[in-house]
Amino acid sequence: MSDKLEKINKLEENIRAMEEELLKYQDLFLANDGVIDKAEQNMLDDMFAVVNDAVEALFVQKGKLPPEITFAVFMAGKYKKTNYVPLTGIGLFDINLTPSDGRLEILTKVKFDFIDGNPTKFAGKKKESNIWSTSEKKKWAAEYITLIEGRWGGKYHFIHPDMIGVTVFVDVEVEEVASGWHYELNITKIPEGDFKGSDVSHFIDKSGKALAKTDKHQGNFDSEDMDWKHKGTSVKESQMGSVHEYGHMVGLDDEYSDSDPGKIAHQTLVRDALGTVLVEGNYQDVMSVGNHIEKQHYVTFLAALKDVTGLKKWQFKK
Ligand SMILES: [Zn+2]
Repeated sequence: MSDKLEKINKLEENIRAMEEELLKYQDLFLANDGVIDKAEQNMLDDMFAVVNDAVEALFVQKGKLPPEITFAVFMAGKYKKTNYVPLTGIGLFDINLTPSDGRLEILTKVKFDFIDGNPTKFAGKKKESNIWSTSEKKKWAAEYITLIEGRWGGKYHFIHPDMIGVTVFVDVEVEEVASGWHYELNITKIPEGDFKGSDVSHFIDKSGKALAKTDKHQGNFDSEDMDWKHKGTSVKESQMGSVHEYGHMVGLDDEYSDSDPGKIAHQTLVRDALGTVLVEGNYQDVMSVGNHIEKQHYVTFLAALKDVTGLKKWQFKK
């Protein structure tokens, strides 16, 4: 069995070397003119896709491992995926897992675009301007990052039946970037207390899934999306638009009754992981009309953990 372990470790080493080469390319592009332009970013994305394919091949090997060496292999690995699209076909993020401390980083790179509001909407609002000030932009971006990382990270843990004592926790990271973004967030200024719907839209490729590339997907927000809004249903709880929309950015679908009745993209993952059947409706859950982040909202993270390690038995810690 040690032969097999050696072979897998060798493969891992090769893949790690490929990734390091890629990062050198990235540095080279940056060193040239200080920016990575669209063509360069496309090239990088394609190369990262090749690395991901190599990792997939390795995982076929890992999937066949007997339980007694799973732990050794797991601890020896370095786990990384760039531009990961969850199995639900929507969402895009990077995954970094460090086995030594069990930290599963879910990294979303965002570009903030602040759009000044319609002046007529601000008529009579003496103390408010329709124009974003520099300090308002900075404040909004910083608050958004803190809010999303705090609300979404660290909620539930994952364990593996063949590895006693190993616990993986989710660290949600949001990073502001100028290019190479997973989501460009367009944030329109509206008067305080006003409401305007927000959404996340994905650039869908030929296979019907979100394209696994940066600089493609968009979120449309407004300046009030970090405030509580009651969604006008019988559910007492309110919701913050930006917290709900982040769920879409990590591959979750709406759970309220929408224009696509009966279908919730993460239904299958929830059934497989938790044995429960999601039914559309108005609930206190964050992907419905409320604010609760439940295990069902961590299923794309669980699937990401399975994908990045190639080990399929990960499950929720009770
Ligand atoms: Zn939604």
